Formats: sequence, C-alpha cells, structure tokens
Amino acid sequence: MNVLVLGGAGYIGSHMCKLLSTQGHQVVVFDNLSTGHREAVKWGPLIVGDILVKDDLENLFAQHEHFDLIIHFCAKSLVGESVKQPNDYYRNNVVGTLNLLDQMVKTGHDKLVFSSTAAVFGTPSVEFIDETQPRLPINPYGQSKKIVEDILQDYFQAFGLKSVCLRYFNACGADPDADIGERHEPETHLIPNILKSVLSGSQQKLKVFGNAYPTADGTCVRDYIHINDLASAHLLAGQYLDNNQGAYAFNLGNGSGFSVLDVISAAEHVVGNKIDYDIEEARAGDPPVLVADATLARQALGWEPQYKEIEKIIATAWGWHQNERF
Ligand code: UDP
Repeated sequence: MNVLVLGGAGYIGSHMCKLLSTQGHQVVVFDNLSTGHREAVKWGPLIVGDILVKDDLENLFAQHEHFDLIIHFCAKSLVGESVKQPNDYYRNNVVGTLNLLDQMVKTGHDKLVFSSTAAVFGTPSVEFIDETQPRLPINPYGQSKKIVEDILQDYFQAFGLKSVCLRYFNACGADPDADIGERHEPETHLIPNILKSVLSGSQQKLKVFGNAYPTADGTCVRDYIHINDLASAHLLAGQYLDNNQGAYAFNLGNGSGFSVLDVISAAEHVVGNKIDYDIEEARAGDPPVLVADATLARQALGWEPQYKEIEKIIATAWGWHQNERF
C-alpha cells in the first residue's frame, strides 16, 4: 500500500511508519515538526507542512500518487495545556482536521484512520470503558477529539469517507530496537518522567500529581498500552475499511489498570533501583481511573496486543531512554 502518515515524525507516527515499512508498504510523512523530530522519519520521505495551511495540503496531494490509506496523527495532545489554551486545541485539532478531510474529499481519498483518545470519555462511571459508554469529555483536548469523531460520522454520510477512530488509552514504551522512542519537549508523561528521573540521578526528581483520588492508593489509574500494539491496530483498522463501509470507533488498551505508584514500583524492578518522588497537587483535567474494554477491537479487527506486562513495556522505554538517538 501507499500510505500517507500525517504526524509521522511524532512518537506514535514514527512507530507506525516503521511497522508499515517492515510490512512492505510505502510511506510518505507529512509533519510540521512542531513536536515531531526530523530524525524520527526514517522509512519514507518527509514533507514539512502544516494541516492549518490549506496550500500545504493541496501541494501534498497534488505532488503524490493516490494514497491507499491515510493515517492522521497530527494533534496537540496535552490535557493540561488544552485547559489553558483551548483556542490552539480547537484550531489545530478540529480546523486542521477539517482542512485534511476537505482535501481528501476533493482528491477522491476515502480511507482514514484517526487518532482519538480515551479523553473523549471524561470521567466514566464504569470500571472498564467500552464503546457504549457516553462520551463526556472534561477537557478541551478530549472535546476536540470528540468533535472530530462526530465530524467523521457526517463525512461518511455526506461524502462516503470511511474512517476508523482509535481511542488510545496510555500510549507508552518504545521500539524494542531503540531506533525511535518517546521524546517530548517538555516531557509530561509518566513513564518517560520516571526514567528521566532515574537517569538524572534524581536531579529531576519525579513528581506524583495527586494522592487523594478515589483509588486504592490515592493515585490515578491508567491503562498502559505499548506503542507497537497501537501501531498494529492502525494497520488492521486500515484493512478493516477495505471490507466495511462506515465511520467506526474502537477503544485500545490492555484492559488492566495501574496506579502511578504501581508504575513506579514496576519501573524500580526494571531499572534495579529505588525511585524517589514528591507528591504534588493533582493536575487539572485528570480523571481518576481510565481502563479500556477493548473487546470490540479484538473481535472486529482481530487485534491482539503483544505487550501485556507493564514491566516489559517499561523495559522497552528504558532501552530507548538510556541511549536516546535524537
Ligand atoms: N503523572 C505523574 N507524574 C508525571 C507525569 C504523570 O504523576 O510526571 C500522572 C498523571 O497525573 C496521570 C498519570 O501519571 O495520573 C498518567 O499521566 P500521563 O501524562 O502519562 O498520561 P495521561 O493519562 O495524562 O494521558
């Protein structure tokens, strides 16, 4: 297949490109390099451009052969930042995606896999979140993704644009060969922050955001899913659209919840050291518990996550952070 990966210089996008390439597909990356890295684009050409600039998208489609599949990762994705800068989140995530969709319709492209998020669910009232749960986001990031999910329904009805939204729970880990990995500036995610605190000899001491949540140990519980398992779901989702006509959504997680303190303890086993931390105030917009029920993705897509143990996931991230190449 000829695949366009928007946001292919980023964390999830670059792992996607490696998987596509190793499976024999051709990849073109489109990225504005705002958070992505030129060095992470290793499996196909990089077109530097912005989904907010309509001319950039027009040129992209004008200069390439037809794409068999389009995978769209370009987004602003920090919950806390979205609370402070909702304008940027709605503009980039909603308006930028509309620009892409309109270009797709104009150029006769009808297959999209879209990065959505567990944040569309807000603070769910059930332990395991399946696709029947109401989408009630509690921050502008989640709201921006929910709006795009709804737009995709309408674009299918009006224009026949087929799509799969994949709602990631907590993406983590790295390529086991350590060619690519997670690198955000500033880093806000738990596992890289734990490992960076270890590598800094506790100079960048880990902060645990909140210990009075209604959970067993008072810290937030999340469902950590390996980046390569997410990537494989995108490929399966693209294949799903060959035989299914519609706008679909699937939740992607391992189905097990780990508290922040559980993750720290698993990381201690991986690195072989005790990890110090300070308890800080809870972050704005963080729900207490988010754990997926991914039964539908398993059944419909035939998806089976390979990394089921949190320590194995952390070990791949540790392999990357000890020797970051960019
Ligand atoms: N967290 C933390 N310290 C950090 C980073 C994150 O305590 O340095 C907590 C955060 O409050 C949340 C969980 O770890 O409860 C996962 O946060 P992350 O940013 O990795 O992912 P999110 O769930 O926000 O997408």
